Amino acid sequence: MIVLMAVIGGCALPPATSNPTPASVATGTPSPTRTPTQIATRTSTPTLTLTPMPTSTSTLTPTRTPTLLPPVEQLLARCPAAPEIAAINANLKLSFAYDPTAGKLVCTAAAGSADLTLLQRRVYQRLLVMQRLAFSKPLPWTDQPLYTWFVGVVNGIRFRRDIPQSYCCDPRGVINVILNDERLIYWNDQWADREIYWAGAINNIGTFVHEGRHADGERKHNCGSARDLRISDLGAWGAHYYYYVWLVEYSDPNFLPDPFYRQAALKEADKIRKENFCAEP
Ligand SMILES: [Zn+2]
Repeated sequence: MIVLMAVIGGCALPPATSNPTPASVATGTPSPTRTPTQIATRTSTPTLTLTPMPTSTSTLTPTRTPTLLPPVEQLLARCPAAPEIAAINANLKLSFAYDPTAGKLVCTAAAGSADLTLLQRRVYQRLLVMQRLAFSKPLPWTDQPLYTWFVGVVNGIRFRRDIPQSYCCDPRGVINVILNDERLIYWNDQWADREIYWAGAINNIGTFVHEGRHADGERKHNCGSARDLRISDLGAWGAHYYYYVWLVEYSDPNFLPDPFYRQAALKEADKIRKENFCAEP
């Protein structure tokens, strides 16, 4: 359960000293649950144009056999190329106040990447995947592609051990992501692990979306300190929820070809819908 909290968690602010009871919610109506089939059926055929893979990465050594992996897994398995890292650094200031993988480099500048620890590599990998995520229908909370929106509202990411949970924003425009030995965040190179809670990069990007939405207009949770009132408010939980729904319904099947990926996204969407809103819809 600790692991699940780690991959899903996200919140606007450091936790308040008490949580409001359901009775304090405006409508007082508990959120009904919906069946997965409501968002499981594709309603349109994606027509996507993908950016070709950078040719400069061909000399980098992957950690698994790329030819056997779906495109998203290939991207997650390799060291980011130096130009890719430079482009991300131009968008976001990444700081690693805590790094449980410190002391060993898994990518090097000499090999065409940068000198990166395992944690650092996995953060860059996830941001590269975020760049590649394309949807056949605009996201509900922005007309921009996901990564373009994200770097437009977020200036930096701080990875820290000294906070009880991830939150935004400190300082303004900077999201703070918790790392500690129990959370096991960034533990794998997979989009969604079939064996460990179906978790992986899919969840880490979900946290970025959640906290990024807090940074988008200084938006806070509007039902107590940790929940949103409605999905349609398009708050942090609304964006977090729709990120998964869009993965189910409108993601690029060439980039995310495995049907299991949609199952994993559907599971997360369903969980968020059940647990993080005070009212429907
Ligand atoms: Zn939040």
